[in-house]
Amino acid sequence: MAEIDNNGINQEEILPKNFIQQQIIDDLAEGKNGGRVHTRFPPEPNGYLHIGHAKSICLNFGTARKFGGLTNLRFDDTNPTKEDTEYVDSIMEDVRWLGFDWDDRLYYASDYFDKLYEFAVSLIKTGKAYVDFQSQEVISEQKGVPTRPGIDSPYRNTSPEENLEIFARMKDGFYNEGECVLRAKIDMSSPNMHMRDPLMYRILKQPHHRTGDKWCIYPMYDYAHGQCDYWEGITHSICTLEFEVHRPLYDWFIDELKDSDYRPRQIEFSRLNITYNVMSKRLLLLMVKEGYVKGWDDPRMPTICGLRRRGYTPESMRAFSDRVGVTKVDGVTDVAVLEYCIREDLNKTAQRVMGVIDPLKVVITNYPEGLVEELDAINNPEDESKGKRKVPFSRELYIEREDFMENPTNKFYRLSVGREVRLRYSYFIKCNEVIKNDQGEVIELHCTYDPETRGGNAPDGRKVKATLHWVAVAQAVKAEVRLYDRLFTDADPSGHKDKDFLDFLNPDSLSVLTDCYIEPFVKNGKPLDSFQFERLGYFNIDPDTTTDKIVFNRIVSLKDGFKKL
Ligand code: ATP
Ligand code: MG
Repeated sequence: MAEIDNNGINQEEILPKNFIQQQIIDDLAEGKNGGRVHTRFPPEPNGYLHIGHAKSICLNFGTARKFGGLTNLRFDDTNPTKEDTEYVDSIMEDVRWLGFDWDDRLYYASDYFDKLYEFAVSLIKTGKAYVDFQSQEVISEQKGVPTRPGIDSPYRNTSPEENLEIFARMKDGFYNEGECVLRAKIDMSSPNMHMRDPLMYRILKQPHHRTGDKWCIYPMYDYAHGQCDYWEGITHSICTLEFEVHRPLYDWFIDELKDSDYRPRQIEFSRLNITYNVMSKRLLLLMVKEGYVKGWDDPRMPTICGLRRRGYTPESMRAFSDRVGVTKVDGVTDVAVLEYCIREDLNKTAQRVMGVIDPLKVVITNYPEGLVEELDAINNPEDESKGKRKVPFSRELYIEREDFMENPTNKFYRLSVGREVRLRYSYFIKCNEVIKNDQGEVIELHCTYDPETRGGNAPDGRKVKATLHWVAVAQAVKAEVRLYDRLFTDADPSGHKDKDFLDFLNPDSLSVLTDCYIEPFVKNGKPLDSFQFERLGYFNIDPDTTTDKIVFNRIVSLKDGFKKL
C-alpha cells in the first residue's frame, strides 16, 4: 500500500522521476515559495498544438499534480500579426482532451499589457530603457558577435525625460511601424547576446484579438514572459532548452521589478522531436495553407487534433510523454515509440471485429443456400468482461486477397487449391477451384466446409496451419478504409541544409481503399470509436463518415510492420 501523507500526496509516487521533479523536491525541502508548486503552460496562439506541446502539457500539468500544486494556462499573445481566436479555442480543447484542467486560471499575456507598459515606463525613469530610432539591420549590426563588444546606439544616452515623452508618443501611434523600438539598457559587451540592449517593445499597427485597437506597441516575448510568470506566482517555469540563454535576461527584468525574495525558477528540458515528422508550427502551418495535407487535423499530422482524429487516445499520449521522459540533450525519438504506446493502450481496450480490406470472394459450395448461422466471437481476449458477440456466417464470404496464393511459395501456409485452413470462429474450409476473369485474374474461390469443425476444431484432431479472418458478403458493411504511411520519406525532413523539407514529402502517405467489408457489429459505432480489425491493425471511424458511407482510418498496424521506405 502506498502511503498518503497529510497533503494527500502519495509518498511512493513522489519519488523523483527526473531532474525537474528533483529540483522541485529540493526547493520544497528548503522551504521555498511557502511549499507551493505552481507551473504554467504558455502557448502562443499562432497555430494548433503538436505532440511536442503535448509533452510540455503533460510535464507542466502532470508535475504540478504530482506535488499537489496548480497549473495555469497562459496564452502568450504578444504578436497580433500571427495570432487568432481559432487557435485559442483549439488549444483549450486539446489541453482538456489530454485530461488536464486549469480551472479558473486562464490568463493571457495581453492581460498584463498595462502593467508591462507601466514597468517599461519605470525602467525609462531610472535610465534603464531607451527608445532607439535606428533600423533593425543597424541595431543587429551594432550588437556584433559574442567574442567582441557591440557598439552603443547613438540613442543610448538620451535622457529619461526625453525618452518618456517619446515612448508616450510611440504608444499614441505617432510613429510608423519600424520607425523606433524600446530597448532595455543592459550591457553592450555581454558575451550573452540577449543582454546587449534587447528590444522590449515594437510598433505593430494591428488590432489584437483581445485588446482590439487599444495598443499599437506590443511587448516582445522576452520582455513579457518572465514578468507574467512572476505576477502569476509561478514557482517553476518549465521550458525548452533554447530559453536557457534567455534566462539571465528574464532574471534581469525580475531583479528590476521585484519587491520580494520570490522568483520563478526556470528549468529547461530538451524539445521533443519525432522521426519522419516536422515539429514546428511554422512548417505545419505551411503544409496546411499550401494544401499538402487536408487540414490541421489530417490524421497524418503530428498535431494533437490530427493524432486524435487518427485514433490516438489521451491515455496513450500521456504514456508516451512519460516514456520519453525529460532530458537536457536534444535528440530525436523514434516514431515507433509513439506507435507502441497506442498499440499498448488499444490492445487492452479495443473491440475486436473482422474486416476485409482487399476482398476475394469465397463460395462455400456445400453450405446450404439462404442459411445464416450466428457464431460466437470474443470481443477482447485481453478482457474477459467484454464478453462475446455474434458473427454471421453464410455461403458467400470475403477473405483477404493476400491470404490466397494460386502457386504457393515454400513459406506460404495459408489458402491455396487443395489446402485446408480455419476460418476464425467458424469452420475449416478447403479450396477446390479457382474462378478467373477474362484477364486471368482470380475473382472467386470455390471451397467446401467441414460441418464437423464448427467452432474451429476437427473432432478427428487434424490440424491446419492457418486461421483466416473473413466476413459474410450479405451481412457485411461496405466501408472506405484510409491507410497511412509516414508523411515524410526522411527521418529528419527539416534537418537538411541543402534541401527543403517538402522535398521529402511521401507521395504515398495516404492510400484510400473503397471496397472494404467489415462485420455488421461496426454499424453501431460513432466517429472516433476504435476497433481492432483482427490480423490487420487498429482502426477508428473517421468523422467523414455519413449515413451512406462509413470511413475508417488505420491508426496503426498490429506489429511494427510499417513499410520501410
Ligand atoms: P513551435 O516551434 O512549434 O512554434 P513554440 O515553442 O513556438 O513551438 P509555443 O506556443 O511557444 O510554441 O510553445 C508552448 C510551450 O510548449 C512552450 O513552453 C514550449 O517550450 C513548449 N514546446 C514547444 N514545442 C515543444 C517540443 N517540441 N517539445 C517540448 N515542448 C515544446
Ligand atoms: Mg514559442
